Amino acid sequence: MGAKRELSSKWFFRISILTAVYYLAGKFGLSLAALNASASAVWPPTGIALASLLLWGSDTWPAVFFGAFLVNITTQGSFATSFGIATGNTLEAVLGAWLVWRFAGGANAFSKAQDTFKFTGLAAIVSTTPSATFGVTSLCLGGLASWNQYGSIWLTWWLGDMVSNVIIAPLVLIWKTQGLPRLTSKQIIEAALMLLTVIVTGSLLFLGKTASSAEHEPLGFLALPPLLWAAFRFGRRGAITAALIMSAIALWGTVHRFGPFVGSALNASLLFAQAFMGTSTLTALVLAALLSEQKKAEAILKESEVRFRAFFDNAAVGAVQLDAAGRIVQVNDAFCQITGYGRGELRGMHPSDLDHPDEKESDRTRMAEFLAGRTLNYDVEKRYVRKTGEVIWVHVTVGIIRDGNGQVARTASVVEDITARRKTEQALKRMRDELERANADLEHRVDERTAKLREMIAELEHFSYALVHDLRAPLRAMQSFAGLAEQTLGEQTPPAVLDYLQRIRAASGRMDGLVLDALNYNRAVLQDLPLEPVNLYELVSGIISTYPNLQPPTAQVQIEGSLPVVLGNKAGLTQCFSNLLGNAVKFVASGTQPKVTIRTEDRNGMPQGGKQTPSGSSNGALVRIWIEDNGIGITRESQGRIFDMFQRAHAGYEGTGTGLAIVRKVTERMAGQVGVESEPGKGSRFWLELRSASEGL
Ligand code: ADP
Repeated sequence: MGAKRELSSKWFFRISILTAVYYLAGKFGLSLAALNASASAVWPPTGIALASLLLWGSDTWPAVFFGAFLVNITTQGSFATSFGIATGNTLEAVLGAWLVWRFAGGANAFSKAQDTFKFTGLAAIVSTTPSATFGVTSLCLGGLASWNQYGSIWLTWWLGDMVSNVIIAPLVLIWKTQGLPRLTSKQIIEAALMLLTVIVTGSLLFLGKTASSAEHEPLGFLALPPLLWAAFRFGRRGAITAALIMSAIALWGTVHRFGPFVGSALNASLLFAQAFMGTSTLTALVLAALLSEQKKAEAILKESEVRFRAFFDNAAVGAVQLDAAGRIVQVNDAFCQITGYGRGELRGMHPSDLDHPDEKESDRTRMAEFLAGRTLNYDVEKRYVRKTGEVIWVHVTVGIIRDGNGQVARTASVVEDITARRKTEQALKRMRDELERANADLEHRVDERTAKLREMIAELEHFSYALVHDLRAPLRAMQSFAGLAEQTLGEQTPPAVLDYLQRIRAASGRMDGLVLDALNYNRAVLQDLPLEPVNLYELVSGIISTYPNLQPPTAQVQIEGSLPVVLGNKAGLTQCFSNLLGNAVKFVASGTQPKVTIRTEDRNGMPQGGKQTPSGSSNGALVRIWIEDNGIGITRESQGRIFDMFQRAHAGYEGTGTGLAIVRKVTERMAGQVGVESEPGKGSRFWLELRSASEGL
């Protein structure tokens, strides 16, 4: 509320001031009216109104209306004509202010030449037409002017308003927006001289000759040089002030019938004078605006130059500028630090003077290629020799600065010291090389050792095979000689000798069995076991039909359900199943018929039954085959060792204890496993786990 009241009291104050000023300025203008008491060729209120609306806002328009109304009602005419004229004047001010705000930069219109022109076109020429039209029409309708004078009164009216907008409005706006200048004493003297020159020139030009002088010398243009001086040296404030003084002198002279514009009628003379005033003011204002724009541009350039300097000087990397001949013209501190040279020493040097001798030539060629545009960029890691003679590594990138004709004017380089990085890289490379060498050496030694080991193994294999094989011949010899001795002695053989001979035969027979089993085990370890899909059902049925001790009446061996196709080796699998089935019918209590069942375990760990076709296990998955007997069983302790070589769990049964060791070895070599579940007296359940190959068949 307080702010609102303050605002409205401010508004009332402004309205009152503007109304009063408008009224007084209007009275002054009308005092110069010649053609009609209400239509003056000099009309300062228009410019005052426009400037006020631009500075204070359009809501001050009522002051324009009241001021205009008061001026007219107190001059001549009725309420109606004064109302019409006041309406025209108000419209002019509001329209002018809006156009200038919208298109010409508002109150700052005179800081740019383009806006100055727009201001002139929009405010001075366009917005003044409603005032002249409303005003003159009101006069004619009110009988205060005759219709046949309409054209000349309209022109007078319009020109008066226009010049007012070109001189008075800028005067107020410029001084209000720019404020008072701070001048040095020298500038004050110059300003005084300039104003004196304006006054003297104006007086000479416009107060010199009277209307009665026979010849009029058309020297009005001489008013321009002092105005240009004012604009050039004192900017917009100087230009508008000088223009106002010059215009005032010209106006006063013309009204008092002096100077080059004086003709037969005062009104016509005033029109000429105004045309002059408007033109010269516009010229001075445009010049001042151009100068101001140039100054601003210069300030921006200077600021950007200062910023660039700061960046260049303080950059962490070296920066160098070369002239077209390739000589150093500018360097920053970082570059001096990198090279170890001072600024003065570097200036005039060629950068190639810094290059390492090995690289000078190649770098010169590379630079020439780049400058000629044959390579797209110069981005190089090379060596510099510092002033101290120390060799360092630098990374250099170069950019070309061209002149307006596209010729190389300068080049700018950025130089970075990368010695530390290079050293690290080199150390790393050395380490990598050493590592690679050591690795290669190691591999070579491993290869050598492996080859030697293979050789040794082959020799050992050969030796053990030969040993085992050669052992059998003397064993057989012992057996047959013992047999021959028995035969030769015949019936007379003393019973003790016979017993010895039989023992020799039995022992050498057992020994031969052992040797044979050792040979078999050796084969299981060494033989090649290429894997292929094997139909277990066929394989196991084949084994059963081959051995009579697996068939009734000796034993009942049956395959329950299907057996899978597995990935294995036929010979290896035959060895495994023969051993397991042989054991199953062997380790049975005497008087019991061995009963053996072979089945496949389903996925839930339960044995499958019913079908004769291969099971549907997927390729590569493990399948388990169970061999269950009704034998004597195996104790828990024995279960752990019976798969080792020469380990047996029961006495009184034939065997060497190598069968299960061979089974385990062969199964493992087919990527399978073997195991047993058993309890003494309750039979045994051996299992084999193999890789399924059923999908392949
Ligand atoms: P061998 O059959 O020549 O004795 P194996 O290596 O085939 O040797 O078997 C080792 C031992 O495991 C056997 O001596 C026996 O004690 C025990 N064994 C093997 N299979 C069975 C079985 N089905 N039932 C009971 N014991 C068994």
